[in-house]
Amino acid sequence: MKQLDISNSKILFEKAEKLIPGGVNSPVRAFKSVGSQPAFIKEGHGSRIVDEDGNSYVDYVCSWGPLIFGHAHPRIVTAIKAAAETGTTFGAATAAEVTLAEMIVDAVPSVEMVRLVSSGTEAVMSAIRLARGFTRRDKIIKFEGCYHGHSDSLLAKAGSGIATLGMPDSAGVPPNLTIDTITVPYNNIEAVRAAVALHSKNTACIIVEPVAGNMGVVLPKQGFLEALRQIADDNGIVLIFDEVITGFRLAYGGAQERLGVIPDLTTMGKIIGGGLPMGAYGGRKDIMEFVAPSGPVYQAGTLSGNPLAVAAGIETLKMLKEPGVYEQLEEKGKRLALGLLDAAASAGVQTHGNQIGSMSTIFFTSSDVTDYASAKKSNTSRYAAFFNGMLERGFYFAPSQFEAAFVSTAHSADDTDSTLAAAKEVFAEMK
Ligand SMILES: *Cc1c(COP(=O)(O)O)cnc(C)c1O
Repeated sequence: MKQLDISNSKILFEKAEKLIPGGVNSPVRAFKSVGSQPAFIKEGHGSRIVDEDGNSYVDYVCSWGPLIFGHAHPRIVTAIKAAAETGTTFGAATAAEVTLAEMIVDAVPSVEMVRLVSSGTEAVMSAIRLARGFTRRDKIIKFEGCYHGHSDSLLAKAGSGIATLGMPDSAGVPPNLTIDTITVPYNNIEAVRAAVALHSKNTACIIVEPVAGNMGVVLPKQGFLEALRQIADDNGIVLIFDEVITGFRLAYGGAQERLGVIPDLTTMGKIIGGGLPMGAYGGRKDIMEFVAPSGPVYQAGTLSGNPLAVAAGIETLKMLKEPGVYEQLEEKGKRLALGLLDAAASAGVQTHGNQIGSMSTIFFTSSDVTDYASAKKSNTSRYAAFFNGMLERGFYFAPSQFEAAFVSTAHSADDTDSTLAAAKEVFAEMK
């Protein structure tokens, strides 16, 4: 196998490291956990991206989730261009944002009202504030290995044990800001019950990724989400589904439609911006009416409901509504995940995989992955070998074991076939 030539990227990275912390604008982009250097991406079309040295890759990162139709889809590009020509931002109400709000309300079962923001982080941070304002309670329960953006109170370390008091996961987060964050293991309903029992009168919300995507893909066990719904109902707790990844991905109405459990509030991002910066939070009308200016919970944004992002979002949702899209994504997601597991098994490489719809993760471990602790058992140096072997052959997976692989509608059967052929070679080398 010839060594991948990324010399232009290396020069850029050297310069970037002097100007930008770590050379990147978001940590995982630095390729640190796979022991290599990042390729700088010049352009993307459909399922492929091309780096600054002209190497072309089939892209399974898809910008970490937004690109459900692949790169630079002509319909989305046209919508963005048209919006740009009539003004990029007004900081005032527009007709298009009402259209998008209506589309989201129609699509997502829990959402009766919605507020647009500019990122997933902002959406979740705002939803937490809203849940606290609505319930007049302080504690929040989250799950180990679930990521909800980088706001202070959600950067609580995944501590083990029941009702662990949160410890800051990042320098610069005072313990006082995470003291009300209780972290329990995913899929462990007894741990949730115990945490709620300790703080039943002061728990504002339970927040969960209904299908986890940020410890790698981990599916909720049968009955887990239903039990959360019941516990929330029994204790006056707001149930929040963080659907920043799963919203409009696992079904048009998100994971909640697909799995049949309806939260009180839902946070979204990624897909709803069609590749531009956007997030949203929405839910029950009586809760959403607590948001300013109709209620006392403050939340605002200069670029919220930005016309370019709204135009890209509307076009994306229109395309998602067309028949067959989700069936197609399911089929592609399954072919990739099952194919990789199969190739690994034939080569004698131990893996366990989780897949639902267009998202999947192959873990280098000998046991089922059902929570953060079992995800952490994966051999990350084996993942790094897989990642680097695939990258050299022109297949761009996430530079970390604990992420999802995404397929878009633009990924062809040829893409999958060539990916699986390359994976066979890589697994054979790894054996
Ligand atoms: C990506 C993500 C976020 C944060 O969204 P940003 O747009 O990166 O701020 C929050 N929650 C989940 C589940 C995510 O996957």
